[in-house]
Amino acid sequence: MYQTISSSVSLSKMIAENYKNVLEKVNNAATGAGRDPKEVTLIAVSKTKPLEMLKEAYEAGARDFGENHVQELITKIPEMPNDIRWHMIGHLQRNKVKYIVGKVYLIHSVDSLRLAEEISKESVKAGVVSNILIEVNASGEESKWGGSLNESRELVKAAASLPGICIKGLMTVAPYTENPEENRRYFSALKQLLVDMNAENTDNISMGELSMGMTGDYEVAVSEGATYVRVGTGIFGERNYNN
Ligand SMILES: *Cc1c(COP(=O)(O)O)cnc(C)c1O
Repeated sequence: MYQTISSSVSLSKMIAENYKNVLEKVNNAATGAGRDPKEVTLIAVSKTKPLEMLKEAYEAGARDFGENHVQELITKIPEMPNDIRWHMIGHLQRNKVKYIVGKVYLIHSVDSLRLAEEISKESVKAGVVSNILIEVNASGEESKWGGSLNESRELVKAAASLPGICIKGLMTVAPYTENPEENRRYFSALKQLLVDMNAENTDNISMGELSMGMTGDYEVAVSEGATYVRVGTGIFGERNYNN
């Protein structure tokens, strides 16, 4: 009988368990910080992972999935149930915008006015409003996308009045670190920028979302106010870019 316990059975168990574990930690981090766990959405970052693994996460309850390549994203969308909210979390080239407008729930990685304008143009053409986040390089690390805190403030203001887009908030990718506490200051700086900008009461600027925290640091991010955490490795295991 043991032959019937195929590797996919243990795989599904592993992903379901990981997903539930991470979700529990997210909820505990929220409660611990005096927040309502319902304010925080766990995004299962499924980039490079095969559909069968996404389906296991879906079975375990995941409805928000994050991808960082347009081609992979648009290939996966029609293969998965249609109550999924798809999140574009990776660097987005302007010439690829037309492929995802109207198909994704939220674009996390808008880091220039030209990109915001392209999303605006394609959204108007398609008759939709695209929800976006402005990506901020809160740590100043050279390898990271996004502008500085000040540049991002200007970008929000410049993009806020564009038709066809709605700026829902801010996103950051913190540095890789063994000690997640080191990233707390970046998460709190992002939150502060959001609070400051909302307080200015500028027309068209009312941001409620903070996309921050990955496998290594999502609990700290939640305690600093994250409303979206993006977790890949912690749910699906290490990524293998060689195949
Ligand atoms: C890959 C990726 C993640 C997930 O990273 P893990 O460390 O595997 O959780 C989150 N955010 C972005 C933007 C990513 O590209």
